[in-house]
Amino acid sequence: MKPVNFDYARPADVGAVLALLDDQSRAVKLMAGSQSLGPMLNMRLVQPDLIVDLTGVAELRRVEETAGDLVLGACITHADIEDRRVPDVTRGALPTVASGIAYRAVRNRGTIGGSLTHADPSADWVSMMAAVGARVRLRGPSGERTLPIEQFIVGALEVDLAANEVLVSVVIPKLSSRARWGYYKLCRKPGEFAHAIGAFVTDPERGLCRVVIGATETRPYIVTDARHLLGDVAAGGPAHKVDPATVDAFMAEQGMHDPVDRQIHVTAFRRAIEQAR
Ligand SMILES: Cc1cc2nc3c(=O)[nH]c(=O)nc-3n(C[C@H](O)[C@H](O)[C@H](O)COP(=O)(O)OP(=O)(O)OC[C@H]3O[C@@H](n4cnc5c(N)ncnc54)[C@H](O)[C@@H]3O)c2cc1C
Repeated sequence: MKPVNFDYARPADVGAVLALLDDQSRAVKLMAGSQSLGPMLNMRLVQPDLIVDLTGVAELRRVEETAGDLVLGACITHADIEDRRVPDVTRGALPTVASGIAYRAVRNRGTIGGSLTHADPSADWVSMMAAVGARVRLRGPSGERTLPIEQFIVGALEVDLAANEVLVSVVIPKLSSRARWGYYKLCRKPGEFAHAIGAFVTDPERGLCRVVIGATETRPYIVTDARHLLGDVAAGGPAHKVDPATVDAFMAEQGMHDPVDRQIHVTAFRRAIEQAR
């Protein structure tokens, strides 16, 4: 199938994007890398009257560093991160995760803002940005608001973003030299969407000890203080001390009822922890 006919605009600043979104008379859809939107258009799952292409907005490609954070514009691509065209403040975590997203053609065009807004529970940024404690900045007609990823992503393919708002940037905390991280994506072929994801970031200097169990049927399980799941590991003990039964029980509590599903997620979780050691 092919998309329905639509108008196309490529504004140069966020103000103009917001003005176009404000048009109540037609269905407006934002487009970044089009790696998720393109297939949805082709299958006519979305039928907009107007596509607003964000790739001409310079602000959305901006990169800024503050004392504690790196701020990446929403249209920074997976390849920008993989190739370290933007600074890495995560001790290699984000470039490593970027390199495992799909294949190079997708990474050249796909953006962090698009991936987080699409909020596919199997998407790599959804899990890793949550594990690292990233926040998103959203701008609408009445100004800007900032949300941690765990509040932004409210369900599978569902985010806290009003129809007249744009995700403008992602704020990533700078990890200290004492930080450790692990990321394990379980999939049959390299570049596939994950069947299970385990992500773990700990940084004693920033008070971070976060775990994400991703590629679930709903939004990923984001544990902002994961010490109860980690046992000795949180205190610097050996990875094999993670008790699979505790993690399994946690997933059952979250609503993962299929024991096979829980088993592959426990495995991804344990491998992420082992990697961090
Ligand atoms: C073959 C293939 C394999 C893939 N494999 C993986 C994989 O292994 N792991 C993975 O994580 N992803 C994978 N993806 C998805 C890919 O990472 C996409 O880049 C990503 O999901 C969407 O980003 P995008 O920039 O292309 O967004 P688009 O497709 O342009 O947009 C996606 C959605 O976000 C909205 N949107 C985009 N930008 C903004 C913004 N700044 N503010 C508000 N709304 C916005 C759009 O309106 C749309 O609803 C794959 C894609 C393909 C085609």
